[in-house]
Amino acid sequence: MALVGAVSIGITKRPPQQCSDAVEKAAQREEAKGTVEQDAKPWIARKKTTTLAICLVVLPILVTMVSLRDAAWTAESVWPLKTPSSTRQESNVDKLLGGLLVPGFDERSCHSRYSSAFYSKNVTRLPSAYLIKRLRKQEALQRRCGPGTEAYRAAAALLRYRHRVGLNDTTGGTCKYIVLVPYRGLGNRMLAVASAFLYAMLTDRVLLLDRATSLSDLFCEPFPGTTWLLPRRFPIKNLQNLTGEVKESYRNLVQNNSAASVSGLGYVFVDLDHTCTYHDKLFYCDDERQFLHRAPWLVMRTDGYFVPALFLNPAHQEELDRMFPRKDAVFYLLAHYLFHPTNKVWGLVTRFYNSYMRNSDEKLGIQVRVFDGDTPFKHILDQILACTSQERLLPEVVTQEPMLPPPSTTGARSKAVLMTGLSSWYYENIRWKYLQSATATGEVVSVYQPSHEEHEFSGKTTHDMKALAEMCLLGMTDAIVTSGWSTFGYVGHGLGGLTPWVMFKPENLTTPDPPCRRARSMEPCMHAPPFYDCRAGHGADTGKLVPHVRHCEDMSWGLELVHPE
Ligand code: GDP
Repeated sequence: MALVGAVSIGITKRPPQQCSDAVEKAAQREEAKGTVEQDAKPWIARKKTTTLAICLVVLPILVTMVSLRDAAWTAESVWPLKTPSSTRQESNVDKLLGGLLVPGFDERSCHSRYSSAFYSKNVTRLPSAYLIKRLRKQEALQRRCGPGTEAYRAAAALLRYRHRVGLNDTTGGTCKYIVLVPYRGLGNRMLAVASAFLYAMLTDRVLLLDRATSLSDLFCEPFPGTTWLLPRRFPIKNLQNLTGEVKESYRNLVQNNSAASVSGLGYVFVDLDHTCTYHDKLFYCDDERQFLHRAPWLVMRTDGYFVPALFLNPAHQEELDRMFPRKDAVFYLLAHYLFHPTNKVWGLVTRFYNSYMRNSDEKLGIQVRVFDGDTPFKHILDQILACTSQERLLPEVVTQEPMLPPPSTTGARSKAVLMTGLSSWYYENIRWKYLQSATATGEVVSVYQPSHEEHEFSGKTTHDMKALAEMCLLGMTDAIVTSGWSTFGYVGHGLGGLTPWVMFKPENLTTPDPPCRRARSMEPCMHAPPFYDCRAGHGADTGKLVPHVRHCEDMSWGLELVHPE
């Protein structure tokens, strides 16, 4: 089933503004036919009636205008959002997500920004007052120093003409930047962006994104009045090809004990690829105030979520505690702040949701990611079935047709199962299971899959759009089963604020036993963590240093944030 096949719900109806004209014309027609009683009242009496009618119409409008006169201007007061029927009611929905978002953006250019709240069950975790304050501060920084400003021009010139003018003190500028080079699949890239943004906030840097991938087609701008996209004429070329080998790399500076030479470099390159070295990872212990603050430009290349490592760095501890009193909602809050799908993607999401998911009593997401190849594997189908059965997420089916006729659809409880994956084989099997046989509980189970791309084509815009739409849809379910090790799955459950049932990654092409486990946290797992205790200054098991950073369920060496109960 293709996303494009979903029913279109465009704004096709004209508003009923023709009503009074139509009434008048009908009256004229009736009058001509002589079926309307002629008004025999004197002219002055007719005038009084008309005046009274006008007053009755105009008065409430005047009262409303006066009451709104002193209200703060918000985008929604000018362009009210339409609440999709049977999603959450307007009066119960906080479109700004507890202050996480600012009002004032043009809603027409990015529908998702203020309407995603209608598609969530509730705001799972509210932002702290301190996080809100820090976000507003970051927005001001992004505006003051972002592309197009005098500060940006000065900083870029420093980078461009450093050799010519012989600058070796780069501390003069007031703005510092982090240029993120995210790469690999979309899940990887989104986790990288969220992590770099938090790092930027902690170190008062402006976050700019390399535009080599499709991110600008997928997401609206998150910061008001500025852009987070790196200008095309940025002086450092081929950012995607930088490696830890370059002389500007953090690895090189640490290995050669040449921190002092930071001032002589135009930029410092931080390589946080999942294959990065011990010396690269010392970045996670870095105290910006001591060392990197002298570098106006940081270029960071990463494909993953490194937020747990920031929580292990004593330099950031106090600030992070204030921003995130709940340790298990960091990605949820950062993602809802940063990631607003563009109208094209949001159209895919809302049309699919309204067509297939909206009216069900319960929604279950099943995200299938196979790392052993694109061909279907029976052991993975068995794993999905075992997990959903053992955890009572899907009902059993009966082997014989029930004696009684099927219940009328109005009485039966309905469950929509949203499956995502590159292959349609798992979906077809599970769909057939519930078409072929009745459920033991009498529930009606409907199984859907928005797309099946067969192969990964990360970076291709339409392919990435489908991937993002599906991550958003997974986040709109009530419960979710994800595939271990998959950043696609992390984003899906993270967006929904859902603690997933994680299916363990199969070894030797066999179904793991147990097939899955309920995770402790809705946070993504950091796949390539440091094994170094910043405080003690030696190697350590970093999953045991603080109560809120633990090893992940799906990857024994990975790290995830949990909220200690
Ligand atoms: P990971 O490889 O599972 O960690 O997730 P990524 O998102 O980083 O990379 C996998 C990429 O493959 C995605 O970004 C998509 O391009 C594609 N892909 C994987 N699973 C799905 C899926 O269920 N639906 C769609 N539309 N694309 C998928």
